[in-house]
Amino acid sequence: MTEISNTSSTLEQRPTLPGKVDGIVALDPCVIQCRSCGVTLEQDRRSLATFILLSRFRFHTCQPGSGRMCPTCLDAVIAACPSRRCKS
Ligand SMILES: [Zn+2]
Ligand SMILES: [Zn+2]
Repeated sequence: MTEISNTSSTLEQRPTLPGKVDGIVALDPCVIQCRSCGVTLEQDRRSLATFILLSRFRFHTCQPGSGRMCPTCLDAVIAACPSRRCKS
């Protein structure tokens, strides 16, 4: 089951686990966190790679280092982004 908890705008940023891709803050169950708003998504049934894929938490590729973002934040930055590449 997939659940997004988005109840607060002051969510605490948790550190990425050592050796994991950015945004993975817990395992068993896997938890991925948005580096923009701090929203977390938790999932315990699929592999980590599948979970990351299905979470739709991605990087804004024009802003290296901006961190992994949830679909909501990503939509917002892409809408505001001057690069056409982003909108395709
Ligand atoms: Zn977000
Ligand atoms: Zn962009």
